[in-house]
This record gives sequence, structure tokens and C-alpha cells, in this order.
Amino acid sequence: ARRVKLSVHAHAYGRNQKLLLSRDITALELAETMRRDFVANVSHEIRTPLTVLSGFIETLQNLPLKEAERERYLRLMGQQSQRMQILVSDLLTLSRIDGSPQPGASEWVLVGGLLVQCEQEAKALSSVISPLGHQIHFDAGPVSEISGVQNELFSAMSNLVTNAVRYTPGAGVVKVSWSVLADGRGQFIVSDSGPGIELEHLPRLTERFYRVDRSRSRETGGTGLGLAIVKHVVQRHNAELVIHSQVGQGSSFSIIFPASRVRQMPVLLRAA
Ligand code: ADP
Repeated sequence: ARRVKLSVHAHAYGRNQKLLLSRDITALELAETMRRDFVANVSHEIRTPLTVLSGFIETLQNLPLKEAERERYLRLMGQQSQRMQILVSDLLTLSRIDGSPQPGASEWVLVGGLLVQCEQEAKALSSVISPLGHQIHFDAGPVSEISGVQNELFSAMSNLVTNAVRYTPGAGVVKVSWSVLADGRGQFIVSDSGPGIELEHLPRLTERFYRVDRSRSRETGGTGLGLAIVKHVVQRHNAELVIHSQVGQGSSFSIIFPASRVRQMPVLLRAA
């Protein structure tokens, strides 16, 4: 109905106007469809852990359970509520950053500090999800700083690093490095020896809730929002996200920061 009404209105202004308007309407409809899909996805993501939680509550209330069993139920309930907390926190992060193209107040952030935090997180996660652990290598490169928003930068880097750990089976290799290219741009690369991603999925990977491996995502605490967050942070820092992947070989995700946002710190030489 909206399309007809607007088109009739536009007719009075001639052909070009009408064309322009119908293009606007198509964009509006697309935005509306995306909004509806998003709400449906969020509802689904929240409903699943809620259903599990209320089932467990009912069991605890109605069945006489042994202590060990009671504890198992409580542990599972804790996992589900944690899953909802992570989802809500990712949703809040996204809603804070996807509206405006510019980051908040930029400051010079030490890359080494971000990498240390990512490394601690990667190792802790690896020990939780995989009994075999992963071979995790960090190369902090030259001492440098990025001009940006600290928590956004950490969020983007940590999403890429934790994805590499989550999708790479135990005993696999995850490498993280920072380097400054000859032209002054800064490159943060995360590569893994995981399953790789089919070419056809790559263009859609940064869409909210788009998942290639649904069960692996859920099992390892994924919300389906990680790469959407990465995309927005990257855009807000005028950076570029580059993804390479080969099925059966592994994947690499790089964030390339413009030279204007990167500065290397002079190396301090200590007298012997
Ligand atoms: P999720 O929370 O599901 O991991 P993301 O937005 O971070 O959501 O990633 C989207 C999808 O991309 C994932 O569900 C997964 O299928 C795929 N993916 C992301 N990183 C990797 C990786 N390093 N190796 C293989 N697949 C990956």
C-alpha cells in the first residue's frame, strides 16, 4: 500500500522523481525486512536458553534429585544464563557502534597491551573448550600505537582471536601478529589451521547472526554477532577487513589500519 500511495504522489513531479522515489522505497523496504529479521533472530536466540532454563527450574522444583544431579542442573543453568549475558552484551556493543560512522574520542592505544589481553583470553578459552589445547603464537611486532577507541579495538581483535580458537579443533595452530607495512599501514593478522570457510559464505560472514557452522558456534558460546561487531569497528577506524580462507587448510582474518592511525614508538636502547 505504501508503494502505491507514494508512487501516485510522485507522479505529479514527473518521471525522474518517480524513479528516485521508488528506489527510496525499495531501500526502505529492505531496511524494514532487515529490521524484522533482526528482531526475529534476537527473539530466537533469547528464547532458546530461556526455554532450557525454565525446563530446568521445573525439574528442580518437581523432582527429588540427588545432590550431584542438582549440581549438574545448576551448572547447566549457569551456562545458559551466561549465554544470554554474552548475547545482550554483544547486542549492546553493536547498537552503540553501528549507528554512527565515527568512533568516540580517539586516543593512542598501545598495540602490545591489546595483544597481551587477547593472548590471555585465547589461552583461557582454549583450556576450557579443548582438552588438547591449541598451539597459540603471538608476535607483537614493533612497539606501536593505534589511534582509536581502546575498548572497540579490543573487541574487534578479541573477536577474531577467539573465533580462531573456537573454530580450530584442539591441537590446531592459531597465530596472531602485528606488523607495520612499508607504507606505514598497520596490519593485525589472525590465522588458524581450522576447517576453513567455503568461498560462497565469505561475503555474508559479517552479517548479524550469519553462521556457517551453527552447532560449533553454539557449543563454543558464539552469538553470531562477533564479525558484525568487527566490521563496524573496522569501518569506524577507517580500516579494512581482509579474509582469506581455504577449506581444509584454515583461515586468516586481517585488519589493516591506515598509516594516519598508526605510529611506531622509538625503540629505547639501554646502555650495557
Ligand atoms: P559466531 O558467534 O557464530 O562465531 P561470528 O560473527 O563471529 O559469529 O562468525 C560468523 C561465522 O563465521 C561463524 O558462525 C563461523 O561459522 C564462521 N567463522 C568465523 N571465524 C571462523 C574461523 N576462524 N574459522 C572458521 N569459521 C569461522
